[in-house]
Amino acid sequence: NYDLAGKRIWVAGHKGMVGGALVRRLQSEDCEVITAGRDVVDLVDQKAVHAFMQETKPDGLVVAAAKVGGILANDTRPVDFLYENLMIEANLIHAAHEADVERVLFLGSSCIYPKMAPQPIPEDSLLTGPLEPTNEWYAIAKIAGIKLCQAYRKQYGRDWISAMPTNLYGPGDNYDLKSSHVLPALLRKFHEAKLSGQKEVVVWGSGSPLREFLHCDDLADALVFLLKEYSGYEHINVGSGAEVTIRELAETIADVVGYEATLTFDSTKPDGTPRKLMDSARLHELGWNRARTLRDGIADTYEVFLRNVA
Ligand code: GDP
Repeated sequence: NYDLAGKRIWVAGHKGMVGGALVRRLQSEDCEVITAGRDVVDLVDQKAVHAFMQETKPDGLVVAAAKVGGILANDTRPVDFLYENLMIEANLIHAAHEADVERVLFLGSSCIYPKMAPQPIPEDSLLTGPLEPTNEWYAIAKIAGIKLCQAYRKQYGRDWISAMPTNLYGPGDNYDLKSSHVLPALLRKFHEAKLSGQKEVVVWGSGSPLREFLHCDDLADALVFLLKEYSGYEHINVGSGAEVTIRELAETIADVVGYEATLTFDSTKPDGTPRKLMDSARLHELGWNRARTLRDGIADTYEVFLRNVA
């Protein structure tokens, strides 16, 4: 439907894991990618965002910029997650309207859904129940972003869409143990245990919550697909279907890192939502279904980790 050839696409948030993956992926399309670091445009600053949008006049905008973090960061810094994300998306989306941007792709995540949503989670379970309290700050902001795109479609006929990825991982992830998500945290913990010969690795919570994981390069591929093929009011889930318990995740990581350690479960840390699996049937119906396996994805991520982070 939408031809990317010759188009100028602003990837807001290109230094993040998703934005970075998208910039890499767009290099194999015949389009020009626009990026701007925080020194050029502070996305929380409405005037700065407006000025940059008017100056560059992109054809497309991907809102991959967000304040993101794991369960502990969300729980302890609610203002950062609510205020910053509201500002970033409102500034970008409104400026895109003023600059007549043809395509906007807004990104959120699976934590926008109610804590007790049916599993796998279909798109239409949005706003059907209370959110998981540990990440409701981020979730409320992201729900507002989806609604903003829908509002511009309804009021002004904008062909703007939203995609909600499941838990992501891959090159460019955050490996800070205090603010990271579980996959990079455990990858780092196993790697460090291997180096020091430490006999046990601490896993937060009970190990029984279920999570689905998607490699960020697979997400980027799906996003380019949606930019080209999807035009609709409803946001689209992007998942891999690869669901594991946190314990199984730890075991897979141990296997990839090549280090056997005793798992110690720290029950003083929260489990969060018991299960979080996306229903990606709509994406599959649209024609995208080519996510790699979790083990392959972790192996790829560990390779990049050894090169760049370790
Ligand atoms: P969530 O998917 O929004 O709940 O965020 P996380 O990725 O931070 O956590 C997912 C699950 O992994 C939760 O049950 C955590 O308690 C558990 N977990 C186990 N070990 C860790 C760890 O070292 N770091 C993090 N962030 N979570 C962990």
